[in-house]
Amino acid sequence: MKEILYNSTRGQEKGLTASKAILQGLAKDGGLFVPTEIPKLEASIEELSKMSYQEVAYEVMKLYFTDFTEEELKNCINNAYDSKFDTEEIAPLAEVEGAYFLELFHGKTIAFKDMALSILPHLLTTSAKKNGVKNEIVILTATSGDTGKAAMAGFADVPGTRIIVFYPDGGVSPIQEKQMVTQKGDNTYVVAIKGNFDEAQSGVKAIFNNKALAEEMDAAGFQFSSANSINIGRLVPQVAYYVYAYAKLYAEGKLTDGQKMNVVVPTGNFGNILAAYYAKNMGLPIDKLICASNENKVLFDFFKTGSYDKNRDFILTTSPSMDILISSNLERLIYKIAGNDAEKNSQLMKDLTEKGIYTITDEMKAELADFYGNYASEAETAAVIKDIYEKTGYVMDTHTAVARSVYEKYEAETKDENVTVIASTASPFKFTRSVMDAIDPKYDSWEDFDLVDELSKIGNVKVPNAIEEIRNAEVRHNNKCEADGMEAIVKKFLGM
Ligand SMILES: *Cc1c(COP(=O)(O)O)cnc(C)c1O
Repeated sequence: MKEILYNSTRGQEKGLTASKAILQGLAKDGGLFVPTEIPKLEASIEELSKMSYQEVAYEVMKLYFTDFTEEELKNCINNAYDSKFDTEEIAPLAEVEGAYFLELFHGKTIAFKDMALSILPHLLTTSAKKNGVKNEIVILTATSGDTGKAAMAGFADVPGTRIIVFYPDGGVSPIQEKQMVTQKGDNTYVVAIKGNFDEAQSGVKAIFNNKALAEEMDAAGFQFSSANSINIGRLVPQVAYYVYAYAKLYAEGKLTDGQKMNVVVPTGNFGNILAAYYAKNMGLPIDKLICASNENKVLFDFFKTGSYDKNRDFILTTSPSMDILISSNLERLIYKIAGNDAEKNSQLMKDLTEKGIYTITDEMKAELADFYGNYASEAETAAVIKDIYEKTGYVMDTHTAVARSVYEKYEAETKDENVTVIASTASPFKFTRSVMDAIDPKYDSWEDFDLVDELSKIGNVKVPNAIEEIRNAEVRHNNKCEADGMEAIVKKFLGM
């Protein structure tokens, strides 16, 4: 098998093994690690169509993580995609009104981040072992709600790791807070900081960049690492479910070998859709990559004009995981369409930092022909939830509804008849209030858990464990600190 190494998109770091790139997370020059080339699938669609999710995941990941042994990688995969998921299929497809929802929400926290965060801890600890790292890995994360919980669920009780999550006190939804403060696992720590998300994020960055602290940590047998979405160990596992979806549709006779399919992805940080782009570049017959935004439509404007402009108001929507103005993973695409030119990419990223805007060349723009961008307003998002529910009984979450709405716009505009897979990124139970409000305004005055039970009834779906667990779960964390007290509390947790 061909060895794949990793380079920074900003050119200063080159030739790292996969395990080193995973351990490091972000490159020292601020760039993201990308594979020296995107490998081609070796297994045929026919072969893939007979495989389980775990087997497909191995077929994909072995091509990227070439310094892992077969045994190491299979262990990571089998520890990640197990009974933590509430279906053996791991990522099932549901056919609804002319398109297939690829349900990526059957993991521990009922959102698609589980697909990557259930394997990342295993990739990290394996990478540490391979590179002779003796220290315990301490994951630090600032969260506005979802990532923190998904990361904790992934790392809870994984030997050789600890995880500390900071969230803004009063800045997350009651359900999100309850999910976090009830988290089990002796290696998990949760802290509400008296400040907003940006302060939590800045505090975490300051701790990461504190050299003196890193030395103290090392002496005490610890080192920091990050679980955020720019880690290549989160991107690659996401490629697997697109391959799985295609193989599954082929197995069911919904596609013939080589027939093109479109994918629609509700997008924030651009990680999920980038994974689909990688799948396409591996040879999977994907035609259009349809990028769906909510009212924070930076990406729609970018695909239309070639200018990425974050200078605009930040809009709070009912699809909060897509309320993002800087899509970090887009940098990997920019680097690629610049012809893997780190200098060109660095200049654009510098423009973004300094002016909040950059513009790509016409030549680069021509490389984006496979992408189609559009967006859904709040009203359109709610209307799609209601419409599909009334026609079919299927209830989708708000993020998925943004994608469904954009799919309908694309169909109306192009009359494209390709088989289409819509990435369904969260369970409706995760955003019960917005979902139920969309179906009927009468639900506005209902209590949270009454809405949960009602959703279960009208959607004819069992309440997921993730929700059942927090209904009566015991609160295990009640730490609070000032924004400038984060370092002190980290040390306290680690007994330093
Ligand atoms: C994170 C998230 C997204 C956005 O995914 P990206 O990879 O950041 O583009 C969409 N929907 C949900 C529910 C999410 O949690």
